[in-house]
Amino acid sequence: MFDTQTRTLVVVGAQWGDEGKGKLVDVLAEQADWVVRYQGGANAGHTVHIGEVSFVLHQIPSGILHPGVRCAIGNGVVLDPDTLFHEIDELVSDGIDVEGRLYVSERAHLVLPYHKLVDAESAASKAIGTTGRGIGPAYEDKIARRGVRVLDLRHPERLRELLERGAAHANAQLSTFGSPKRVDVGETMALLERLAPRLLPLAEDVGLCVHRAQKNGAAVLLEGAQGSLLDVDHGTYPFVTSSSTTSGGAAIGVGIAPTAIDAVLGVVKAYTTRVGNGPLPTEIAGALGEEVRRLGNEFGATTGRARRCGWFDAVVVRYATRVNGLTGLAMTKLDVLDTLERVALCTGYEVDGELFTEFPGDLSMLDRAVPRYEWFEGWRSDTGAARKLSDLPDNARRYLDRIQELVEAPIAYVSVGTRRDQIIGVGS
Ligand code: GDP
Repeated sequence: MFDTQTRTLVVVGAQWGDEGKGKLVDVLAEQADWVVRYQGGANAGHTVHIGEVSFVLHQIPSGILHPGVRCAIGNGVVLDPDTLFHEIDELVSDGIDVEGRLYVSERAHLVLPYHKLVDAESAASKAIGTTGRGIGPAYEDKIARRGVRVLDLRHPERLRELLERGAAHANAQLSTFGSPKRVDVGETMALLERLAPRLLPLAEDVGLCVHRAQKNGAAVLLEGAQGSLLDVDHGTYPFVTSSSTTSGGAAIGVGIAPTAIDAVLGVVKAYTTRVGNGPLPTEIAGALGEEVRRLGNEFGATTGRARRCGWFDAVVVRYATRVNGLTGLAMTKLDVLDTLERVALCTGYEVDGELFTEFPGDLSMLDRAVPRYEWFEGWRSDTGAARKLSDLPDNARRYLDRIQELVEAPIAYVSVGTRRDQIIGVGS
């Protein structure tokens, strides 16, 4: 993927998240000098399998699994320091050397215990189906200019003032929710004073670090969390996450210029899933939906929640191609469909008798949308050992060809299993 022209690459989810970005980033990180997360928080759960060991990374870029690759958490991320240290400790105990190659943006906002409390006590969070990890409330505080950033830990007096403001707001919210719980500023301050000596040595101006690396010709991978349809602007609002998951968010969330990005790889599953509430036009009902969930092991890495499963929706991915400027697609989990008799591809939505092929902003249209499907014969054979396109059965190739035609982006990778080596690099 990296070559003389492509030095900075964004990897985004092009559906509703959980597309297998972790595996792609892991594969691509082998060629990268830097891997930087640009948005989201500890609600993302990337799973990477190496040999017999599985790593679930919530905040640290999965590039950390490659020796020598520098990893950073950008300013666009809301950082949960407790989870970060827990992850670092787990990596170290699994023999991964993190020392000196993990950085945290000094501008990143912190997820504090009161954000989690507000999330847990809020009925609105439950209605959207958030992971309850305080991500939404932390982003709310950021936008309302009430947030606490990593760099604030350098100034205890100012930190206490910020915490007092944040806690007052959180307590007002808790009272509105009818919750008897309240935030204790002293406790929060004590926690941060305990964490600061470990967090501050990691704090850097990440935008500047990446800029300098780019000037020196480094290969830089910018890693998104969640998926394009969960973007706060371009997703199925309000059933979205609180940040800009699409490629525009990469520039902002790392602190580099949009013109410093050379290519954007969209990760898609060979079908569609979403977790939580909100529209999923191609959802597969009944036993077949459950079968796909079982075959794909569609249970959240962070929460264990069962994911809703649907057919591949070309309307969604074509939209994701447009809003992200996808230069290529990486399709994962093709192997999950290996045993199915037939496979459907959604090419448009019929709404009140009219056909739509562009993804609408108005969710009420999606409620009434009847997907129009093209059906493909299943390939009924194991694709897990395929290492080049020509190893794939004809029916699978027909399915892939039609997808790239419909979504208007070329397929650059096809992943056919959980292992690192189970991947086809198209044209490589
Ligand atoms: P992410 O957040 O986008 O990285 O997605 P998750 O980590 O939540 O989900 C990806 C899951 O799918 C992980 O358990 C991966 O090991 C698994 N996975 C990734 N690619 C493939 C693939 O090609 N085939 C199969 N069967 N599993 C895959």
